Amino acid sequence: MTKDRAAPPGSAGPVDNAGPVGSPGDDATLAEQVQTLRDRIAYYNDRYYRLDAPAVPDAEYDALAAELRRLEAAHPELAVAGSPAQSVGAPPAPLFAPVVHRVPMMSLDNVFSAEELRSWADRIARHLPRDAPFVCELKIDGLAVSLTYRDGRFVTAATRGDGRQGEDVTANVATLACVPEQLDPRAGPLPRLVEVRGEVYLPVSAFDALNARQLEAGAKPFANPRNAAAGSLRQKDPAVTATRPLALWVYQVGEVDTGGGPLPEALASSHAASLAWVASTGLPVNPELRRVTGLDAVVEFCRHWEAHRHDLDYDIDGVVVKVDDFSLQRLLGATARAPRWAIAYKFPPEERSTLLLDIEVSIGRTGKATPFAVLEPVVVAGSTVSMATLHNEDQVRVKDVRPGDRVIVRKAGDVIPEVVGPVLDPPGTPGARRRPRPWHFPATCPSCGGPLVRLEGESDTFCTNLDCPAQRVQRIAHFASRQAMDIEGLGELRVRALVEHGRLVDVADLYAFTPEDFTDVDGFAEVSVRNLLAAIDASRHRPLHRLLVGLGIRHLGEVGSLALARAFRSLDAVADAPREALAAVEGVGPVIAASVVAWFSSPVNRDVVGRLVAAGVNLDEPASDAGGATEPASPVPQVLAGRSVVVTGTLPDLTRQEAEAAIVARGGKSPGSVSARTYALVVGEDAGATKVRRAEELGVPVVDAAGFAVLLRTGELPGAQPGSQPGSPGRPPPGRP
Ligand code: NAD
Repeated sequence: MTKDRAAPPGSAGPVDNAGPVGSPGDDATLAEQVQTLRDRIAYYNDRYYRLDAPAVPDAEYDALAAELRRLEAAHPELAVAGSPAQSVGAPPAPLFAPVVHRVPMMSLDNVFSAEELRSWADRIARHLPRDAPFVCELKIDGLAVSLTYRDGRFVTAATRGDGRQGEDVTANVATLACVPEQLDPRAGPLPRLVEVRGEVYLPVSAFDALNARQLEAGAKPFANPRNAAAGSLRQKDPAVTATRPLALWVYQVGEVDTGGGPLPEALASSHAASLAWVASTGLPVNPELRRVTGLDAVVEFCRHWEAHRHDLDYDIDGVVVKVDDFSLQRLLGATARAPRWAIAYKFPPEERSTLLLDIEVSIGRTGKATPFAVLEPVVVAGSTVSMATLHNEDQVRVKDVRPGDRVIVRKAGDVIPEVVGPVLDPPGTPGARRRPRPWHFPATCPSCGGPLVRLEGESDTFCTNLDCPAQRVQRIAHFASRQAMDIEGLGELRVRALVEHGRLVDVADLYAFTPEDFTDVDGFAEVSVRNLLAAIDASRHRPLHRLLVGLGIRHLGEVGSLALARAFRSLDAVADAPREALAAVEGVGPVIAASVVAWFSSPVNRDVVGRLVAAGVNLDEPASDAGGATEPASPVPQVLAGRSVVVTGTLPDLTRQEAEAAIVARGGKSPGSVSARTYALVVGEDAGATKVRRAEELGVPVVDAAGFAVLLRTGELPGAQPGSQPGSPGRPPPGRP
């Protein structure tokens, strides 16, 4: 008997508590295995489509679905009506009234490589004339909806559901700012009824904010922007939907009824023309659409967006390639679940599952105890992930992840990897093991054995022993780090070795080192000792603001340190300043001021400062230091007060962080995306094309690195008329007087 078994690509290998496929046991018949696979997929569908809370990463789900399709194709006798292999989505939830789709809403077949894409094109090529155009579109990772307009007025919106029947979400969709109530009559004669399909999504920035609020409220965070969009739209109370900034991209025209009149030419001819018509009615159509001929151009489009997917403020999970001509689409037809004239080219997944080996706690320089996941290494979005922060005790509880669980790990672009939640087995799956016991926050510090304390009303837990070796290592490593005293060759590992050998107690000890101090410490060869001592010596000359960063005063970061250094010029002046004077410095405020006063009032800290002084460490802020640029005297003039300046790409002299800090230090804001309220977009090398295009659309001024220097100095846009008041918008947003 054949024993077919599904195994997800790229899974970290079977683990005993939850192999990706139920292990039906060796004596299970093929029919039983197929049924187990169906049940498992049905369970995952329910979690994903009805509860908006996936139980496995998409890539593993896709592998299971592909395996079921393969088995049912190879053994047609085992196929059953309504199998998830043949169907679309899931039936509508009873919470919503059902809506029948007169033209079914289908799914898409997938390919995962350029070769598979070419095979698809080859398969359909014999039905197409040479050089038949394709339309390439972004595959928006959201929730499919259908919107119906009767005589130009919005009347119904429905989810896709199972493709034939969806859920009535009219009131919810009506809350979307980008959905017009009335189609623009300038589009020409409107059909009696027109139905359009699109993807509702939640911008990534809104997703981050929503999840932060969820966690604050002790509620489970959404797994990803797609599930957050679905969960936000499919609310019984549309008032809740209205609080979530959902948006829509329309990607297709569905049912059209002209009431016997002529069909507008655009809706009869081609996909690209029909979308141009949709856009002319005022509905949102994604601007990144391209009509191309030849597969090379299609592949180039796919490669481009695979590399630039994170330039966008919405998630895409691939590219959809469609045959443009409607008559050719009709010729190619569809299978039961997907059209033959379109294909989804899927990007590599950003979610994977792996084993949570353990949860450990790390101690930071302030004593903060942060739990983190120790993971069986897994490649996610191009890099190997073996650890991920779990932030604090509450997050571990809310996410309900336990050592021994299989967990979903997500890594979107440059974002730090994250444990989303446990991979859940369908209840009653044969071979499934009971979940391990919940993890509890340790009561004692893993480094010094002292008590870990969580104050009433706070989410963080602290080791309160200032002599804790872990805190000491972190404090010294922070002092040596790039943004502080920048001592090359003194990373955390070396600091730890020196602390463990009793050679380092605090940062002032660094300046008393002699070559003999390293003789019996592993990892310090003669040359590297010489280099390290030279690097320590060079750090004596860093400007005051770097020293302030290095002291690791709670709440005082780079921006605040720079502001204080510029306002007071010397360490003595900062140390002796009354709290009110510190708080009066722009960018500092009462919390930082109180923390600075408390730090300098500690005898231990005073002693460290005294020894730094004795060691000849510079304590002054030079008149012109800002990463090389000439800056006016302190405090920093608030030339960008109330203004929003967005930075994209790489600038020659400043890191992105420094550029944003420079904007904030001048009273401005530096959000991640361009809007009508953006004062200027600063463009460096490899700038995000979407941000630039958006700035152009909105008439937001675009400046280069040289223009940015002017902006930082004067608050004025190069070439703009001087005289606008700081804090007043540089120009009215479009559409406003
Ligand atoms: P799909 O998402 O792979 O593709 C079809 C959908 O793409 C369309 O219905 C449409 O909504 C969308 N789309 C986005 N942009 C489009 C564009 N420009 N043109 C046309 N369509 C566009 O397939 P599916 O049937 O919606 O669902 C399957 C997906 O859901 C898979 O990615 C699967 O991994 C995931 N899923 C995951 C789980 C889980 O447990 N993790 C469970 C069920 C489904």
